[in-house]
Amino acid sequence: MSTEVLRFAPSPTGGFHVGNARTALFNYLYVRHYGGTLKLRIEDTDATRSTDDSLKTIADGLDWMGLAFDGDPVFQSQNEASHREAAQRLLESGAAYKFYATAEELEEIRKQAQKEKRAPRYPRQTPEEQDEKEAAGVPGATFFAVPDGETVWDDAIRGGSRWDNGVIGDFVIARSDGSPVYHLAVVVDDHEMGVTFALRGADHISNTPKQIMLFEALGWDVPRYGHSTLLKATDGSKLSKRKGSTTVVEYQQDGFTPSAFVNFLALLGWAPGDGREVYTLDELVDAFTIEGTLKKDAIFDETKLTWLNGEHFRMKSVDELLGLAKGAWVKAGLLADGDTSREVELRKIVALMQPRVEKVDDFAKAFYFFKDPDSYDEAVYKKHWKTDTTERITMLVERLRGLEVFGESGIEGAVRSLAGELGLSASKLIHPTRLSLCGVGFGPGLFELMEVLGQATCIRRLERALDVLSPKQEVS
Ligand code: GLU
Repeated sequence: MSTEVLRFAPSPTGGFHVGNARTALFNYLYVRHYGGTLKLRIEDTDATRSTDDSLKTIADGLDWMGLAFDGDPVFQSQNEASHREAAQRLLESGAAYKFYATAEELEEIRKQAQKEKRAPRYPRQTPEEQDEKEAAGVPGATFFAVPDGETVWDDAIRGGSRWDNGVIGDFVIARSDGSPVYHLAVVVDDHEMGVTFALRGADHISNTPKQIMLFEALGWDVPRYGHSTLLKATDGSKLSKRKGSTTVVEYQQDGFTPSAFVNFLALLGWAPGDGREVYTLDELVDAFTIEGTLKKDAIFDETKLTWLNGEHFRMKSVDELLGLAKGAWVKAGLLADGDTSREVELRKIVALMQPRVEKVDDFAKAFYFFKDPDSYDEAVYKKHWKTDTTERITMLVERLRGLEVFGESGIEGAVRSLAGELGLSASKLIHPTRLSLCGVGFGPGLFELMEVLGQATCIRRLERALDVLSPKQEVS
């Protein structure tokens, strides 16, 4: 069993992005598969951008996905004293330096470096110069002095990685008021939380050499790093709001089932190698390996998510689906909220719809279980209602009226024997009957559907359709 410590470290500054949700999931799968500890750290040092709403949406999203963490969350903002202390140590060891300059002066140095095609470094100021500047109210930030050479790490997903330190400018680790900046806070917290493996998104790759340098300068063990793939839209561009939903809550509200959403995210940057695609969270935990993670950009394809959602609906029990289906029916105005008078019938409807729903709203496509059709699909009518259909359906109504037990097999027997007697294929009766009962040309098996509708409803609807759909006879 591994004793590694991993962490998911979201910044509560906006919605819970699907890319971050994927990072949370990979951390979860790693720890639950190999063993170890999974911590949650809220990176809330940016007081101007961090909000309670964002924190809530992240917590709700994690909860919805079924991802639990070990121990209480750590709030980065509460560890500022340690961050300041680390900055001080780096100053004392010479690994960092203070540089006093106005925004314009800093900009000037950066521009010059850019012109010379090198990363910015800042001149060292004597203590006297610094005191003078400070007295004049010029801000002095603490910069990390990037050493020469290169930074290498063995990325758990991407393999051997190497950065030339020459392309990394000296970077700020503490602002002029001493408050810590991102890289320093991450490194100090990772160290104090005992993090041994930082598994995160590819957008952090360029941060890694900086953070490794800080670990080394502080004399601390460097954790292992792994960077998963970027998520791309189906056209290969960056995933953005314009291309669809980008936050977990949107999928939550859109009626996706969390197990399908989690299954979908797992396949973005990980593959089991045997082509299998449908997994529950527990099955993912079993199957996940770090070797199975991929370097190639992953395509966020909602069509696949929708398909997976249907597959997950198939895995649920009727009781689990009933609550979701009721929600869809209430939303569509087909069922009164809190109506519990028809549970047996509703369960049967759910069972009939289970093989053919992909999204929760698809349950509302079965409106005909709740009300008579108020129109008939024109294309289905043209295709299936022929001149002698009226006569045939009239005969069928009589057979159905004569059934003592209105069950699936009795109904099927009545339809098939009438078709046999008339020398027709049963479909010549089935299609117009479905249209008469449902107004549409798709849905569950007709005989099961009719059993659920019941004899009186079927006969009433068939007679009404005969009335409405039969070509009117010319009366001479
Ligand atoms: N707070 C960073 C983010 O939300 C993650 C930092 C990290 O994983 O090291 O992207």
